[in-house]
Amino acid sequence: MIEKLVENMKDEMVKTMVEMIPIKAISPELGGTGEKERADYLEKVLNAAGFDELKRLDVKDESGYIRSNIIAKIKGKEGKKTLWLAAHIDTVPEGDISLWKTDPFKPVVEGDRIYGRGTADDGQAVVSSIYALKALKNSGIRPKNDIGLMLLADEEVGSRYGMHYVLDNYNFGKEDEFIVPDAGNSKGDAIEIAEKGLLWICVKVIGKQGHGSRPDLSLNANRIGMKLALSIDERLHYKFSSANNIFVPPYSTFEPTKREANVQNINTIPGTDVFCFDCRILPSYKVDEVLYEIKDEVEYYKKKFGVEVELKLVQKSDPAPETDPSSEVIVKLKKAIKELRGFDPVLIGIGGGTVAAPLRRKGYSAAVWFTTDNVEHSPNEYCKISNMVEDTKVFAKVISEY
Ligand SMILES: [Zn+2]
Repeated sequence: MIEKLVENMKDEMVKTMVEMIPIKAISPELGGTGEKERADYLEKVLNAAGFDELKRLDVKDESGYIRSNIIAKIKGKEGKKTLWLAAHIDTVPEGDISLWKTDPFKPVVEGDRIYGRGTADDGQAVVSSIYALKALKNSGIRPKNDIGLMLLADEEVGSRYGMHYVLDNYNFGKEDEFIVPDAGNSKGDAIEIAEKGLLWICVKVIGKQGHGSRPDLSLNANRIGMKLALSIDERLHYKFSSANNIFVPPYSTFEPTKREANVQNINTIPGTDVFCFDCRILPSYKVDEVLYEIKDEVEYYKKKFGVEVELKLVQKSDPAPETDPSSEVIVKLKKAIKELRGFDPVLIGIGGGTVAAPLRRKGYSAAVWFTTDNVEHSPNEYCKISNMVEDTKVFAKVISEY
């Protein structure tokens, strides 16, 4: 049984994780040097397994760093299509180091947990995916179709040199399907098949700075900014109020988040005010419709208060079409979870954005699933060894029967 093979590789899996985490793989935008070194290490791990195809899709980014993606494949009997396991090898930085109990880049194994930056996001999936393919290889089973593994760069900063680059530079089959282990819950009972659209926008209100005692000579951007933020907030919630119960939460979300610091002292009336919104939009709406409402509200404020307003789009992506619940990847994944864990997983939608979205936009079926305690990006991030091993069993079962 392939599950037994996975169980026997537990120590090897822990070893791979512990060796991988100290090799930092952080994007230059976040202060790192890219994924090349980590990819070199993982390529060696994969090389030892003897897959039918193993290749690198490396690319130099605009800061001059090499960004590395790895592709490995096991050929099936007919090989009319490929089921891919797609995990990302880059991580975010450690964040506030004083909140960590251990060194984020010296992994610590404690009971069922491995602590370290990137152990959960997306190290667990990287290891699970590699060892699921290893188990398949060692089992001698030749599935009907090809089985692929993608270890991707640049996921944390938008996937330009990761999934987007691979999609443009690798020849995928029209019928290929994907499992993206990069979002999940502690039980592993939800498969994500849809993601909301995304809009990150910053609004800069420009008035006139002045002395705190002379509002008659100034134009307080702070006051107008607060009013405008609340007006946008109310208007978006009112206009885009529909719900879709597949999503968690079931409605579009519009959250005023970041607010930039303004003046240093209390007795100065601020001349500028900058606030930002994080919008997650249900697939029944277009991101441009949301943008239109924001712009319209802004025009009204400009006229009413005599301020200038500048908008800055930080991220914008329309929702991707939902993956068909009857696609083979969803059916097989559900079946494997049911057989190995004893429950039927539910199909859900989330606020986004994993690399499943660009895949779905290209018409591919993609299932986002793994078992995780949702400690991504937090201090003392950890992965449970049991989750890593049990997920590998699920993946191994799915790919051996595909
Ligand atoms: Zn991730």
